[in-house]
Amino acid sequence: MRQMKLRAVLGALVLGSWAGANIETDLSNVLKLGPRVAGSAANESARVYLEGRFRALGYTTRRETFSYPRFDDLGSDVRVGERTLAGQALQGSAGGSVSAAAVLVPGVGTPEDFGRVDVRGRVAVVRRGQIPFAQKARNALGAGAAGLIVVNNVAGELRGGTLGERVELPVLGVTQEAGTALREGERVTLSVRVRQGEVRGVNVVAFKTGVTRPELLFGGHMDSVAGAPGANDNLSGTLAVLDLARRAANTPLAARSFFVLFDGEEDGLHGSRSFVKDNAALVGNLRAMFNFDMVGVNADPLAVGGDGDLVALARRANAGLESFPAGGGSDHVPFTQAGTPTLFFHRGIDPNYHQPGDRVADPALIGATVDAALRTADAVLSAAPAAAR
Ligand SMILES: [Zn+2]
Repeated sequence: MRQMKLRAVLGALVLGSWAGANIETDLSNVLKLGPRVAGSAANESARVYLEGRFRALGYTTRRETFSYPRFDDLGSDVRVGERTLAGQALQGSAGGSVSAAAVLVPGVGTPEDFGRVDVRGRVAVVRRGQIPFAQKARNALGAGAAGLIVVNNVAGELRGGTLGERVELPVLGVTQEAGTALREGERVTLSVRVRQGEVRGVNVVAFKTGVTRPELLFGGHMDSVAGAPGANDNLSGTLAVLDLARRAANTPLAARSFFVLFDGEEDGLHGSRSFVKDNAALVGNLRAMFNFDMVGVNADPLAVGGDGDLVALARRANAGLESFPAGGGSDHVPFTQAGTPTLFFHRGIDPNYHQPGDRVADPALIGATVDAALRTADAVLSAAPAAAR
């Protein structure tokens, strides 16, 4: 008991480093949970942890849910003899397992190309490029193939490939290297395991009890892509929002602000879109929405983009703050589309973007982002309200 009291006093005395220590602790606690893919258990565990942090600061938290369809590859590959070649199911592909001879289709998979070989009941192998994936798949199906493998035409995995429609054929994308292991007439086993499901996303909204018409909204997405721990994208922005709440907690700013952690960003800005749709009156009343995405690694120096007046205000309030042209696909977009002035804080795309190596973010850079945001918020709130926006 005594010891805890002493610690609290010391904490208050070294407030600056205390905040940094909080960010560092939260970073390691949330990263431990693994990738925060929307709809996953780790995503939910991270949310429970973050809600607890907001509540400990005296905020009320509210959950807002939404759902959207998503295609998931549950692990697909092709076996050739003893070798297993990894691949990615193309979105819209049917699931299934086929053991049959491989047929190398000449060209790029036009109906004429398929006319020059016999793929009936077999696994067709075709090169990526020139015509859409869906056309290749439909032509393979029309020619009687039992499965289709699309070989990449550039280095690396064929990730995120989509048919854009449902095709009743297992379709796997593989690397160029895997493609060279596939030989004419050789027996292969194509296994495509997919699920077309509905994802339930959950936004967390934190505010001081009684605040219903905020002037500022600070937001960032807390979900990440599969296979990436998402330290910079976007635990950094998430913790910037939490740190803003922490530093605003006992100041007038808290009574004028909402703090929102969006879910489902990586699958297409689903959380922010749903928030804007479900809170039209609140959003219509905002003087500004600040979005934080990838602010923990300096790929570039900190920069802001968005509403021209806000960018100018932010740069006047922060010496050396860079700006970039409006745009960028993140959670500010649905707010901009709804007519809210937005400001997007961002430090560029680092080399570990959406990769397993996205496991480091710098608490000091996150803290410096929060400093810049606080100075900007101050400037926004002390400016005269825009006349009848
Ligand atoms: Zn992001």
